[in-house]
Amino acid sequence: MNNRLYGNLIFELSCPGRKGYSLPKNHFGHTADEIPAVMRRQKDAELPECDELSVVRHYTNLSHNNFGLFDGFYPLGSCTMKYNPVINEDIAALPSFANTHPLQPEKYCQPILKIHKLLDEVLCQLTGLAKFTLAPFAGAHGELTGLMTIRGYHESRGDNARTKVLIPDSAHGTNPASAAVCGLEVVEVKSLADGTVDVDDLKSKLSSEVAAMMMTNPNTLGIFEKNIPEIAKLVHDCGGLMYYDGANLNPMLGVSRPGDMGFDVMHINLHKTFSTPHGGGGPGSGPVGVRAGLEEFIPTVSAFRGNYAVCIKALAYVLSLGKENIAMVGPLATLNANYIKDSLKDLYELPIDGRCMHEFVFDGLKDKSTGVTTMDVAKRLLDYGYHAPTIYFPLLFHESLMIEPTENESKETIDSFIAVMRAIAEEAKTDPEMVKTAPHKTPIGRVDDVLAAKHPVLTYSNFE
Ligand SMILES: *Cc1c(COP(=O)(O)O)cnc(C)c1O
Repeated sequence: MNNRLYGNLIFELSCPGRKGYSLPKNHFGHTADEIPAVMRRQKDAELPECDELSVVRHYTNLSHNNFGLFDGFYPLGSCTMKYNPVINEDIAALPSFANTHPLQPEKYCQPILKIHKLLDEVLCQLTGLAKFTLAPFAGAHGELTGLMTIRGYHESRGDNARTKVLIPDSAHGTNPASAAVCGLEVVEVKSLADGTVDVDDLKSKLSSEVAAMMMTNPNTLGIFEKNIPEIAKLVHDCGGLMYYDGANLNPMLGVSRPGDMGFDVMHINLHKTFSTPHGGGGPGSGPVGVRAGLEEFIPTVSAFRGNYAVCIKALAYVLSLGKENIAMVGPLATLNANYIKDSLKDLYELPIDGRCMHEFVFDGLKDKSTGVTTMDVAKRLLDYGYHAPTIYFPLLFHESLMIEPTENESKETIDSFIAVMRAIAEEAKTDPEMVKTAPHKTPIGRVDDVLAAKHPVLTYSNFE
């Protein structure tokens, strides 16, 4: 690989006077309109001077440094990085959808409103709730919307003392953050050794000040919370409402419904489960659903009606799968995760055994004597052409390595991944130094991530 074209900045390719464009004055007999002098730059912009082909090659080579779902297996836990069928992108990009404007006359908006209504109905059917708002722009935004709904409900009954939200210690960080933004007080509920909510600890924290209990199911360890009916009864009996963090609804799709389990309010991440790629701050949507009787407390949280293109993709995804196929999503995602877990648990430490849902957590390699850490395993995976799993999250274990294969991967892909994970465990014994210094095949080797976080070099002049 030619390093000059591959790793360098576009500025380093610059040659004074070289041009990648031509602006002819004479267009076959017509004289080009000159830009009036007052509007022209006084000083040249400091831009790299390159020929067009070098620019094209530079950016093409840079793009090859990316790793996405279209490049290979991406077993990142906690975030459902699953394949989103491209046809749904095409549908959302149809000119009649893409060119709609939120302020166009009502009579031209009817088909758009119909799409919103249909998606609302579909989400109600999938979750067992009565009404959805599609307005929130992210999961965290949905949490805030849901908690505001709950607060509105309590206030409507003059029950203003309910200011506490019970949140399990394994919850996603957005849960306590949203509660705090909503002006509510966070009360942490402990987890048992198997990762599920400690019901006895919960009981000790119930009171007439509890506004809601927020639960994530499957929880952050990928475990189904078996005690939900008991928990829901306890919280309801003391006057609180049940909130379901449905960011990771993937394993539940078409199989079980939060509304049937006793939840009152929930959010869904359309950008995790319903065919919108996410990451890098891309477009999101966190619709909030409520049970009958709470509709009137849903607040207005955004201008217009949410992220329309994401909603179209979600509807296209659900309608193209149909009821039969959507009921396969959860079981397949669960099967794939359990298959990987059981194929590797002789070599990797499995702190919580038993059936997982869509994801599970290893606590590093079983053989700790090699000194090879979860970080080393993750880096070595890059050499084999895989994206690393989520590492050092959740915080409940020292060497967390969290794997979520999703429903879309073939058995061959999963078997290859298992073989590589086994090979790395073997390398950790025979050549630990090689694993500890990985990656060896990527354009940039092991970076000092502490230094990178504490002293980031972000400007070109400091670049060495
Ligand atoms: C991703 C996630 C969230 C937050 O969703 P955002 O769209 O990133 O705000 C909340 N809870 C859980 C369990 C999640 O996985």
